[in-house]
Amino acid sequence: ALAPFQAAADAGTHCPYCAMQCAMRLEWRDGRPEAVPRDFPTSRGGLCRKGWTAGEMYAAARPAGPLLRDRRDAPLRPAGWEEAFDRIAAGLRAAQAAGGADAVGVFGGGALSNEKGYALGKFARLVLGTRHIDYNGRFCMASAAAAGGRAFGLDRGLPFPLSDIPEARAILIAGGNPAETLPVMMQYLEAQRAAGGQLIVADPRRSATAAMADLHLQLTPGSDAALAAGMLHVAVRDRLLDEGFIAARTSGFPAVRRAVAAWWPDRVERVAGVPERLLVRATHMLAEAATAMILSGRGPEQQSHGVANALGYINLALALGKAGRRGCGWGTLTGQGNGQGGREHGQKADQLPGYRSILDPAHRAAVAAVWGVPPERIPGAGVSAWELLQRCGRPDGIRALLVHGCNLLVAAPDAAALRARLAGLDLLVVADPFLSETAELADVVLPVAHWAEEEGTMTNLEGRLLLRERQASPPPGVRTDLEVLQAIAARLGRGGLVSAEPRAVFEELRQASAGGAADYAGITWERIKAEQGVFWPCPAPDHPGTPRPFESRFATPDGRARFHLAEHRAAAEETDADYPMLLTTGRVLAHYNSGTQTRRVEALLQADPAPYVEIHAQVARGLGIAEGEVVRLVTRRGAVTLPARLAPGMRLDTVFVPFHWGGREAVNLLTNPALDPVSRIPEFKVCAVRIERVPPS
Ligand code: SF4
Repeated sequence: ALAPFQAAADAGTHCPYCAMQCAMRLEWRDGRPEAVPRDFPTSRGGLCRKGWTAGEMYAAARPAGPLLRDRRDAPLRPAGWEEAFDRIAAGLRAAQAAGGADAVGVFGGGALSNEKGYALGKFARLVLGTRHIDYNGRFCMASAAAAGGRAFGLDRGLPFPLSDIPEARAILIAGGNPAETLPVMMQYLEAQRAAGGQLIVADPRRSATAAMADLHLQLTPGSDAALAAGMLHVAVRDRLLDEGFIAARTSGFPAVRRAVAAWWPDRVERVAGVPERLLVRATHMLAEAATAMILSGRGPEQQSHGVANALGYINLALALGKAGRRGCGWGTLTGQGNGQGGREHGQKADQLPGYRSILDPAHRAAVAAVWGVPPERIPGAGVSAWELLQRCGRPDGIRALLVHGCNLLVAAPDAAALRARLAGLDLLVVADPFLSETAELADVVLPVAHWAEEEGTMTNLEGRLLLRERQASPPPGVRTDLEVLQAIAARLGRGGLVSAEPRAVFEELRQASAGGAADYAGITWERIKAEQGVFWPCPAPDHPGTPRPFESRFATPDGRARFHLAEHRAAAEETDADYPMLLTTGRVLAHYNSGTQTRRVEALLQADPAPYVEIHAQVARGLGIAEGEVVRLVTRRGAVTLPARLAPGMRLDTVFVPFHWGGREAVNLLTNPALDPVSRIPEFKVCAVRIERVPPS
């Protein structure tokens, strides 16, 4: 059913997966699309195995039209688009008639283009009038975003281009594994190492990135703030501070200095499990390097104290004078393809386009003026992603939910409880290119175009806007997310509020972001193409864009970066006699996020066909577990049986499971939804677990 598509010779796109957004185009060979790399300043002609095989997604089965369930216990059946839209409109009206405007919720995703994320926020607030919209970035980048905003006055994932990385003489990667999650970024780390730079990795697991490091700090899951405080303690003790930088460019250090005085290395060793000699060595490596960076991953961030963890590492960077100048900085390694742009333009419960606050009257007025409505027409702040999902299926809560770009049953914590919540909805609508685990549960499934079949902009991990141009025709029966939103809006009598044309949406987004922190006003599609990406903020067409926003001043009102107290607190769930070990989760090279796409690519499935649990070989021997033997992992929320992989590089007290799979093997059946008090991110990275042998059947 797929017709080859003749894209213009110079039309290119970017990879469907991670925030590197490597440049590629699709070439049609024997009637099938193949991904080939393009020259681009970030990926420099590179693709990882996920990118190379992206064209194979076209071989995967997709719904040929909408699917609809007549009753909750009836199977999905094919339906026409008109019938599907009628059902959705009727369900939304009924939910709001019974429970008010907030009885409808919208859930977005960090892989949606900027245009889709923006349109989804406007759709929720103006078409549906609900305050309940949030997105899966809340499960991903929320702690780093909150910490960066607090410390620097601006959340710009990497506040420098990737090309600066080789200039850092030392780099600490805290809880990130770019060798598997951002493989094409490794060329920058390899260049840094080739130029004599040093690499430190803090990770409970000897990941592929940790294995290549000069120093591996194998900390206890949940102890990042203690580790960061200990390093700052050593920096104070050994007179490694950059007093000039602290005085000239920061505020709030005295209180932090007092707080870290209590983090003696022996205390850090007890809490974080990092020996004093390694703690001291790592601190000296960072401090004595002329330039250094600290790059944060999901390890410290996806915790119930994720913001404090991230702030602890930021404090360290500031105290050592390793921020706001060339070759230096704290940054976060954004994961999802549009994890950066997806958190800037209104998908978040508390946010409006341009990184504006929905609570700030001036911000509301600015956006309302662009939308042509009075500010009071914009609802107030909703609740965070997990809290929104907790309201689903309750008579006084959310009765109808629209999901775009997220496979919740794989990506969210405590998946069994979530399934029950979603099953209690009066109406669950899922728009997805594939029949994901969440779509299988829906009342209405809307098959939408995927990445190469439409155009739009993405913002990569450096804050650089990129343009995806069409490379393929969507199969007949498939529509775009924007067409879907426009059609539902029209059914509800508000069709004029949402355009189905990506370029028109981008032009509106430019206006709505003008004057905000994430200002796209000066960026056009023509500029993106001609300049190979443009960095925000870019307030005017003649503005060059801002690759390094903190070089002369930070984005706080006084231009100074702020230290924050970043106290260590224990994980929400500690080990005990019933659950004596720690479980942590993460990613593998062959798969991306919930695996909705990559599990449909045969080559990737062959590389990593199923989940497993990594257990230290010594622990496994003690339990009588052999390589490949199926074991049962049990937490307070559920149990999963998985084959064991014996890994000498694991901590003795910790097991690791990748999270890309759903169904009965989904590790998120086990994870703890305890939330960070600020970012509201769930604690994916640590919970208490028991390993049981499974008797042979
Ligand atoms: Fe590049 Fe990431 Fe795609 Fe790999 S998955 S090709 S690193 S964008």
